[in-house]
Amino acid sequence: MYVENVGEFLKAHGIKPSYQRVKIYEYLMGTMEHPTVDNIYNALSGEIPTLSKTTVYNTLKTFIEKEIAMVITIDENETRFDADTGLHGHFKCLSCHRVYDFEVDVREEDQETLEGFEIKEKQMFYYGICKNCKQGS
Ligand SMILES: [Zn+2]
Ligand SMILES: [Zn+2]
Repeated sequence: MYVENVGEFLKAHGIKPSYQRVKIYEYLMGTMEHPTVDNIYNALSGEIPTLSKTTVYNTLKTFIEKEIAMVITIDENETRFDADTGLHGHFKCLSCHRVYDFEVDVREEDQETLEGFEIKEKQMFYYGICKNCKQGS
């Protein structure tokens, strides 16, 4: 997913595009790292000296409410965020702790089992050792 004009994109989702919000969304969209609040704060605080962790946290909360970002709870000790709200799975490497995206194809039979249910969120988690770590060992 790539958004050309983040300011307009935020506005279209009912979010006032403040400088900080635009920067945070641009960062989230541009990284494959599924960052935590701390990661985002550390990445942007040099460029935006007025930024606080609370602002990052509240901004992410707004993004989630407006459904332009989602929380990934792959690790119970940390909350990670993803600008890609489309259905995809996450693989967490138990060695390097990176979280990788992978494509998911939901079988129609699975959907039929939940006929009449309203699905609000879809998440799929795998845990293991990534290719890079396997090669290194
Ligand atoms: Zn790894
Ligand atoms: Zn992802």
